[in-house]
Amino acid sequence: MQDADSFDYVIIGAGSAGCVLANRLTESGRYRVLLLEAGREDLNPWIHIPLGYGKLFTNPKVNWLYTSEQEAATGNRRIAQPRGKVLGGTSSINGLVYVRGQREDYDHWRELGNAGWGYDDVLPYFRKSEDQQHGADEYHGVGGPLTVCDPSEPHPLCEAYIAAAEQCGYPRNPDPNGARQDGFGYVQMTLRNGWRSSTATAFLRPARRRKNLSVITRAHATRVVFSGNSAAGVEYLHRGQQRSVNARCEVILAGGAFNSPQLLQLSGLGPAAKLRDFGIGVIADMPDVGANLQDHFSGRLVYQSTEAFTLNDVVNNFGRGVVEALRYLFLRKGFLTMGSLYAQGFLRTDPTLPRPDIKAGLVLFSADKAGADLHRFSGFSLIVILLQPESRGTVLIQSADPLHAPAIRPNYLATPKDREVLLAGLKAVRRIMDAPAMRRYIAREHEPGTSCANDADLLDYLRRRGGISFHPVGTCRMGNDAAAVVDERLRVHGVQGLRVVDASIMPTLVSGNTNAPTIMIAEKGADMILQDAAGR
Ligand SMILES: Cc1cc2nc3c(=O)[nH]c(=O)nc-3n(C[C@H](O)[C@H](O)[C@H](O)COP(=O)(O)OP(=O)(O)OC[C@H]3O[C@@H](n4cnc5c(N)ncnc54)[C@H](O)[C@@H]3O)c2cc1C
Repeated sequence: MQDADSFDYVIIGAGSAGCVLANRLTESGRYRVLLLEAGREDLNPWIHIPLGYGKLFTNPKVNWLYTSEQEAATGNRRIAQPRGKVLGGTSSINGLVYVRGQREDYDHWRELGNAGWGYDDVLPYFRKSEDQQHGADEYHGVGGPLTVCDPSEPHPLCEAYIAAAEQCGYPRNPDPNGARQDGFGYVQMTLRNGWRSSTATAFLRPARRRKNLSVITRAHATRVVFSGNSAAGVEYLHRGQQRSVNARCEVILAGGAFNSPQLLQLSGLGPAAKLRDFGIGVIADMPDVGANLQDHFSGRLVYQSTEAFTLNDVVNNFGRGVVEALRYLFLRKGFLTMGSLYAQGFLRTDPTLPRPDIKAGLVLFSADKAGADLHRFSGFSLIVILLQPESRGTVLIQSADPLHAPAIRPNYLATPKDREVLLAGLKAVRRIMDAPAMRRYIAREHEPGTSCANDADLLDYLRRRGGISFHPVGTCRMGNDAAAVVDERLRVHGVQGLRVVDASIMPTLVSGNTNAPTIMIAEKGADMILQDAAGR
């Protein structure tokens, strides 16, 4: 292999984590870095217009379009598992909502044996990445690459929602990423001047001017190559051609919660018997590679509104659509600047709980399912999300062919507690919908409908129609026990020169969204990689 094919660091995947790593590892100019991305350049305009995320949900040019295996607990449905396949990865197709999770989530990571991952340890990395519209304070940073801001304007339905929650005894909280998460308010989004702030635009674009960074798109990594038990390089397919590259210091996997465990398994790190079944030579028998999959399962309440002020009304009326497009073009305001949620609340289904266990997000439109056409009537939806699921699933290869999707078995709703908490959350949100401030805007409950009233019916509804927040994590779990996949410096146990730095390393799912935490993980991961390089 020629020197031109050697880099200090080879990063696999230009997603939420990979773009941050590419930026931070090339900042000093000291290291040559190669970023391999299976997807293309982020040229599709719908990536950059926030509301465009709905158009990316089923687009194979920017999305891996995974689906989960059929499972009885969710009505034998194949649930869509979209993942970004483009520069910026899933941060280029996500719903833009910026929520970090709770202090307790990170303190729990530390209690599990991960030194340096408590809330006070990770807060500086959230602040470092951030350019917060409201300015800097104890919890927020300014001047970082990632712009975080409020919706472009208030909306009467959100005002009613927050007021109705207050009428039910829940506090108003303008900043769930601040001192406390409890309460209701508008969401903040990763948005800059009305455009999406993906990690490709925020972190990668400025770094691409550097001579020590090479980026290859449409480069699908097929295997990490080992010399003994040291990662020495990567094989990849580039536009149909098999190619390889050397990594002088490290190979860093940032392929996300489905693809990172898949690539480890294809490279010989995983459950040995499973790998042998597919004729893959075993480098390390690691049963937990691909185990511990967690996601935020949710229930949805859909309402017909008494007022024609939802996105449904705009999409179904040509004249209003034109006005909305012009407002976006000239003022950077309105529905086109909107992500998935507009307002949200964090609540405790039992007031004696130490922290919120449910998130209730308000969506200013309604459809039969994510990515489908909007209803013809004025509609809005409430997404009721189980914040701390107990259920655990798996991601396992089903072939030695790297282009064959892994089998995703999420095992949603597997524990009684998961079902009970989500059920209690649905009922709590229905009570908020029935409070005076909200009631005036509700013509009827479209789904599941008021006839779905008792626990058995609601549970059945969750099984048949429940969805997810698209927050898979945990499949390359960080820990210092024998079964963990990476240690607290994100180095893969038992081998040299290989790290995983993405959402898959979370030992437990955070009680928020997962883009901001993944960016934090990459900020901290980059620091650790550079510290280790300096000590070499
Ligand atoms: C529809 C949707 C809405 C969401 N909404 C929100 C939200 O509002 N707020 C929020 O915080 N989170 C949201 N999320 C989740 C969040 O965006 C993800 O958790 C986060 O982006 C994961 O980051 P990652 O770096 O782990 O993986 P990704 O961002 O998925 O990056 C992985 C990258 O690696 C590439 N890759 C994978 N395998 C290979 C390979 N073998 N070779 C080369 N390249 C490879 C992929 O193409 C991709 O670019 C949403 C997700 C989805 C799907």
